Amino acid sequence: MWFKDVEHFKKENGYEVGGAWYPRVTRILEVKAKPGLQVFFKEMGSFDAAEDVKNKSAEEGTLVHETVQKIAVGERIEIPKKIEPAVTAFQKFQDEKQIFFYPEFIERQIWSSLHRYAGTVDALATVGGKFGVLDIKTSTGFYPEYNLQTAAYVLALQENDLKRALGLPREIETRWILRVDQQRKCLRCRAMLREKGGRNKVRAARANGTNGNGHCGDSHDDHYWGPAEGIVEMREFPYYFKDIRAFLAAKTLWEWENDYWLKQVGYLR
Ligand SMILES: [Zn+2]
Repeated sequence: MWFKDVEHFKKENGYEVGGAWYPRVTRILEVKAKPGLQVFFKEMGSFDAAEDVKNKSAEEGTLVHETVQKIAVGERIEIPKKIEPAVTAFQKFQDEKQIFFYPEFIERQIWSSLHRYAGTVDALATVGGKFGVLDIKTSTGFYPEYNLQTAAYVLALQENDLKRALGLPREIETRWILRVDQQRKCLRCRAMLREKGGRNKVRAARANGTNGNGHCGDSHDDHYWGPAEGIVEMREFPYYFKDIRAFLAAKTLWEWENDYWLKQVGYLR
């Protein structure tokens, strides 16, 4: 990425926290290549088409994300029609699993004074008696990058000055990824259709590990699409030491890559 000057670099890459500037966790993790993204760009045919789908899809993801965060803490809001299946599935899931979200720790800024980075946690929650970081994703899967991100949050939240600053009610013990999404299923062959960012992605039944009653063609219109259904899945990742190590290594690499600016910021000597 190109930066006009130091202020531009600082704004794009981090936050001011208590008089100091720290880089953002999500920015740091961009230093790691994402092979899946390359496949996606190739499938889309052109860079512009891919960017367009990516941006629209991010917009929809943000809407689900924000709506779920409001509902999680009991806010009464009108649920946008197009994301209703996902949000309704989330409400049911939260109720069944007895997930308690702390309203004061939704979209809360966190930082590590020791390792000098900052970020924003989606939520801190209690599930099954454990207290931890809960990250909400609207993707089709659980990607390993997510674990580096949440490990960075856990590490910061274990530092005493942050615990005091935030007034944490207890020690952070674990982390979860909560995946909220919606898809349509073919009533005949049970293929899945995901409509996101104006792009239709069909996954054959075989890829879903299910077998339907018949065979449809390969294209979108060859199927008998049922209504959109919400999908909610939560995974706990209790062992975070390796992820913390990997995150700190990524941070070192990111610092190396941005050495020129970081020296001007005064972050690196
Ligand atoms: Zn079908």
